Amino acid sequence: MRLAVLPFLLSSLALALPPAAPSVSPETRIAVRNLVGEVLVNGQAYDYDRQLSDTIGPRLTGSDNYVQAVTWAQQQFTSLGLKNVHTEPFTMPALWEPETPATGDITAPRLQHLHIYSAGWSPSTPDSGITGPIVYLNDFLPIAKLEADKARIAGQIVLLDNQSSGDKPAIGDLIKALATLNGFAPKAVLLAGNANGTQNATSLTFDGTLSKFPVAQIGGEDELLIKRLLEKGPVTIHFSFKNRVRPATQVMNVVAEIPGREFADTTAPDSVVIVGGHLDSWHPGTGAQDNGTGSATVLDVARSVQALGRPPRRTLRFILFGGEEQGLVGSTAYAKQHRADMPSIAAVLISDTGPACQGLVRHGPRG
Ligand SMILES: [Zn+2]
Repeated sequence: MRLAVLPFLLSSLALALPPAAPSVSPETRIAVRNLVGEVLVNGQAYDYDRQLSDTIGPRLTGSDNYVQAVTWAQQQFTSLGLKNVHTEPFTMPALWEPETPATGDITAPRLQHLHIYSAGWSPSTPDSGITGPIVYLNDFLPIAKLEADKARIAGQIVLLDNQSSGDKPAIGDLIKALATLNGFAPKAVLLAGNANGTQNATSLTFDGTLSKFPVAQIGGEDELLIKRLLEKGPVTIHFSFKNRVRPATQVMNVVAEIPGREFADTTAPDSVVIVGGHLDSWHPGTGAQDNGTGSATVLDVARSVQALGRPPRRTLRFILFGGEEQGLVGSTAYAKQHRADMPSIAAVLISDTGPACQGLVRHGPRG
């Protein structure tokens, strides 16, 4: 993860450098060399991730663990000597967490216990559970194929095959397809975990609201068994779970800054570079990768820049967002709340799932 921090760190610094530097000055060259050395020799990213994942645990948006992570992150930023450490609230349409573990079985043609979780932001099943034959769906995209299945989806338990959306579906197509599926009113939807046995729960909504019907995730091997059994005849399933839902609730983003040494006025155009990631995670695992790695990267960039003792010209603003996994709720709220500040933002760098780094630069790489 130290190697993952480096390109992120260097991108942050490059964007915080003089707007029209024709080449790297000797002073900057020394600063970058010191920063790279700081990350490689003293990097704390693994330790930050261990504290988030092992000590605090999964951080569903708005959960007790999430609130604990918000306090922890503020303590880290404060102990590093960052300025303007604070939280900013946004409203989640609903908070959600499992109340009882999900249980489920294939009941016909033979009994087989399932590895099963409730998907995020799914309503509870009825107390008696949900029972019925499985409708297998492997043509999720393009949407025209999904439309053709409308009649056999309504009121049924639909198993949405992992391969249904192709290798690299566009996120916009996926969201549209999910909205279409939701409109067909299935009784429930089953998703499957990954082939290596991991579960990476998700939700079928992308706006922080509850699904209209129960959504469960079964194991990857469970899905393969069901598909083989379906080749021979109908497969019936029974499952149940209870989830706790709270109505619209305020949740916090965490913000901290390293003031720039030349752009003291952070309302001036292009005076701030945002370095961010999301603090929330899903529930079956501990959120070590998505997005413990990104949160740890943000913290270790802050730590290593502070350790240099030489602030960049522009202000670095570090933000750990909530509600990301439910549809970018925290970062969207931040952008709306700070709409008037947008001219001051020279660039935004987001770290999600470790080495993945998404950057948004308003005026090109020198901006
Ligand atoms: Zn993520």
